[in-house]
Amino acid sequence: MVPRIPPGAARPSVLRPAEARGAGTLGGVRIDPHTHSLASDGTDTPAELMARAAAVGLDVVGLTDHDTVRGWQEAEEAVAATGVALVRGTEVSCSVDGIAVHVLSLLHDPGDIALAELLESARTARLRRAQAMVEGLAADFPITWESVAAQAGDLSTVGRPHMADALVAAGVFPDRDHAFASVLHSSGPYYIHLEVPHPRDVVGAIRAAGGVPVMAHPFAARRGKVVSDAVVEDLAAHGLAALEADHRDHTGADRAHARALARRLGLLVTGASDYHGRGKPNQLGENLTAQEVFDEIVAHGTLGVVWP
Ligand code: AMP
Ligand code: ZN
Ligand code: FE
Ligand code: FE
Repeated sequence: MVPRIPPGAARPSVLRPAEARGAGTLGGVRIDPHTHSLASDGTDTPAELMARAAAVGLDVVGLTDHDTVRGWQEAEEAVAATGVALVRGTEVSCSVDGIAVHVLSLLHDPGDIALAELLESARTARLRRAQAMVEGLAADFPITWESVAAQAGDLSTVGRPHMADALVAAGVFPDRDHAFASVLHSSGPYYIHLEVPHPRDVVGAIRAAGGVPVMAHPFAARRGKVVSDAVVEDLAAHGLAALEADHRDHTGADRAHARALARRLGLLVTGASDYHGRGKPNQLGENLTAQEVFDEIVAHGTLGVVWP
């Protein structure tokens, strides 16, 4: 087990890059509210993720696997031993006119039937879409549904990262990023759009379940098309709480854009690593959320933070 780093002790250098500064570290509290585990397309178990969060000196981590809460229990059980507080969340897949949008739901009631059903239908859509994409890829590359499935911890949250891993395992690409830059890109011939609800409906379902909706990487154009400011304005009118400005896939201009829009619409601004473990360069704690913003999120969420 990785020991908790006491407050004031020297922090590992991963938390020192310029990207982490300015993301807000009021009171020295380090909060990274958006990460993934093996419960979706990350590569760490939830317990490993919590131990790694302790090792890099995080105080609070949010576990936000795609369309599932499956990893929560194991992460909760790791809180006491690691000394890292846990924000329970989910990154919900949404779609606007063929553009993929991700909305984080933080601190929602997992027993809320409507949101649980929405997540379940997103998982069903994921599985069907993955099977269709793999059918296309398998015609041209030495992968099979079985080889992709072998990369996924849980088939119900299977996605392009698992297809990337199968392509890497077959020797087609050196890593996930190369696979995404070519055959898996959303503008490529093998891409099939994930048919999921409009974020307006998802934001409403998250609020009804007592969650706090945060739009993840809203202007990350390297991933594909992004929505217009008008879409964000509409979401703000329907209960969106925050924009994730500080994210690796945002340029400096994207971050400034997100901050300015958040200010105009009265939204909070967050930052996070979107850590996925091995296979993606995102390092835990590379972007952070300010404590005052975190306090607002906690005040509006139904679930409590799991404190050590
Ligand atoms: P999917 O939900 O199946 O369309 O896959 C989207 C997921 O793929 C995102 O949540 C990221 O984890 C990952 N992803 C998106 N773009 C890239 C990229 N350029 N390189 C590596 N991973 C990516
Ligand atoms: Zn992901
Ligand atoms: Fe995302
Ligand atoms: Fe994510």
